[in-house]
Amino acid sequence: NYLRHVESMSQLPSGAGKISQLNAVVLGESLASEDNDLIFPSKEFSGQALISSPQQYMEMHKRSMDDPAGFWSDIASEFYWKQKWGDQVFSENLDVRKGPISIEWFKGGITNICYNCLDKNVEAGLGDKTAIYWEGNELGVDASLTYSELLQQVCQLANYLKDNGVKKGDAVVIYLPMLMELPIAMLACARIGAVHSVVFAGFSADSLAQRIIDCKPKVILTCNAVKRGPKTINLKAIVDAALDQSSKDGVSVGICLTYDNSLATTRENTKWLNGRDVWWQDVISQYPTSCEVEWVDAEDPLFLLYTSGSTGKPKGVLHTTGGYMIYTATTFKYAFDYKSTDVYWCTADCGWITGHSYVTYGPMLNGATVVVFEGAPNYPDSGRCWDIVDKYKVSIFYTAPTLVRSLMRDDDMYVTRHSRKSLRVLGSVGEPINPSAWRWFFNVVGDSRCPISDTWWQTETGGFMITPLPGAWPQKPGSATFPFFGVQPVIVDEKGIEIEGECSGYLCVKGSWPGAFRTLFGDHERYETTYFKPFAGYYFSGDGCSRDKDGYYWLTGRVDDVINVSGHRIGTAEVESALVLHPQCAEAAVVGIEHEVKGQGIYAFVTLLEGVPYSEELRKSLVLMVRNQIGAFAAPDRIHWAPGLPKTRSGKIMRRILRKIASRQLEELGDISTLADPSVVDQLIALADV
Ligand code: ATP
Ligand code: MG
Repeated sequence: NYLRHVESMSQLPSGAGKISQLNAVVLGESLASEDNDLIFPSKEFSGQALISSPQQYMEMHKRSMDDPAGFWSDIASEFYWKQKWGDQVFSENLDVRKGPISIEWFKGGITNICYNCLDKNVEAGLGDKTAIYWEGNELGVDASLTYSELLQQVCQLANYLKDNGVKKGDAVVIYLPMLMELPIAMLACARIGAVHSVVFAGFSADSLAQRIIDCKPKVILTCNAVKRGPKTINLKAIVDAALDQSSKDGVSVGICLTYDNSLATTRENTKWLNGRDVWWQDVISQYPTSCEVEWVDAEDPLFLLYTSGSTGKPKGVLHTTGGYMIYTATTFKYAFDYKSTDVYWCTADCGWITGHSYVTYGPMLNGATVVVFEGAPNYPDSGRCWDIVDKYKVSIFYTAPTLVRSLMRDDDMYVTRHSRKSLRVLGSVGEPINPSAWRWFFNVVGDSRCPISDTWWQTETGGFMITPLPGAWPQKPGSATFPFFGVQPVIVDEKGIEIEGECSGYLCVKGSWPGAFRTLFGDHERYETTYFKPFAGYYFSGDGCSRDKDGYYWLTGRVDDVINVSGHRIGTAEVESALVLHPQCAEAAVVGIEHEVKGQGIYAFVTLLEGVPYSEELRKSLVLMVRNQIGAFAAPDRIHWAPGLPKTRSGKIMRRILRKIASRQLEELGDISTLADPSVVDQLIALADV
């Protein structure tokens, strides 16, 4: 359907509009009157874009669907393969009724992703190009590495690991903050065929131990401490506790290679276990700066990454080498309209999938210059991001809605006092971005000039699945627009029947794509049960989604967040976006509660702007906002004031906890230790009857 729509849309003028306060785009004609929310890329932008029109997208998408093998092998041929893959580019079974789920891409092809990220670029003459600009926590503390220097450092660590018995297929746990050593560690593992498992360095000793016990690494890489904002975090102490715990469970890790981060602490202040603990700087420099590559099969494992755990026990998502390589490189290139002159900054930590695919692998496979930021985005003040953008002339800035919303709460002056002229593309990931946050990001941060790539994807998908191509599509604030090449999203109903056209339901994917995860580590059955059994024949994302009359996809949040009020299915994201539109509302989180009449009622946690007092009047006007925006059926039954919301360390709202608070099941809050700030839970409980 969207293809048909595109044909009519492409008749429209592609001159961009600076969107006014009212967000009306002056489009002339047809669509403008129906839908004043379309925002076109400017002529200049489209003119220089890799994909510059809906037609061009359509042609490529059609080819990727009609001939996936040809489409992806053409792209794969641009990378280095020691030996080409076999006759079959891919094979798949995504239907549990036909046997075990299996996905393979480029099987028999022999390659190495580290080689493609580094050696290949150096050989192509990019040796002196900056690979990483590293910005420390404190103003004025920075460093950088060229592609040649990065390669040398990666080789030294790779040689150390090899020398200490790490072989192809062995697991290595990495528990590091955003120092350059983090991407270096990932690449060094990949170089020798070891399987890295990065654990976000904000996780507790318990969570780290759980992951160590699951994947049994030979070595753990960490540092003694790190400064984040005004706080110092003693990572080594957390690692010590985790290693104690895991050895009690029979998993002992032989080596703890510890980077001495003298900006945060001293060696004297670091507890040490002789025999196990080794200072990084003491050993690495003794190793040669070149290291032969371990050539691996495209289907050999590259890494394990445990999902953030906003729901249930963490799952070890396993990605393999070849397909992941091609997919992250290609999605990065097109979704951000990457050019070799770009300076790219993704604010995600390498502890999350975003940091794997779009701090490290995707950008480096393209030979990009990447900014790696150690600190907190609001330290020393809310202008830090734009300070960094100006300092490094960042042209592509990729972040999360939670950061956008938190910066929006502060004065625009923090943004506007910086030039930001270098910016050309913005990106968002992690949650649906509320249209009002989208507009602020677009209008204020991007000066109404930079398209926003709102990329929908998951740890499991390896790379972008539904995403704008910034030069091709007119955008709608809050919609992730259309599927990437090779991706066939489908929306199904409760029975698993595909629904066509304008609709809403469960978001699934038909057919495989190169970046798909191949299993859950050590638990293929859970892989099948969680993702392929709910709707036989499809990969089930766990997310709710709707498709509008123009074929645009709108993510509505996790399916377990969809609320059924008197038979109306309402996505939490919709109600939250309506609340956030209120001028005094900074953030909102909505959950369902039992309701005698309606089945489920809507319970909204609302964070107000700094300094706004709670009042009944305000409560009423918030409810009115939702009534006006969505309809009376979606009006919240209860507004609960929330000075802060319980969030995971990746910034996502943990609704599991909010549901318990809303239904006053306070004894059943479960594990709250993985929250970024567990104290918000007490604050919320205290305000339950206000
Ligand atoms: P867990 O699976 O452990 O509960 P998680 O799903 O939050 O954690 P990720 O894989 O990092 O872990 O996040 C993927 C999820 O984030 C998606 O399923 C979706 O719910 C949400 N998401 C990511 N990007 C977007 C986006 N652009 N728009 C809407 N939702 C998004
Ligand atoms: Mg998930």
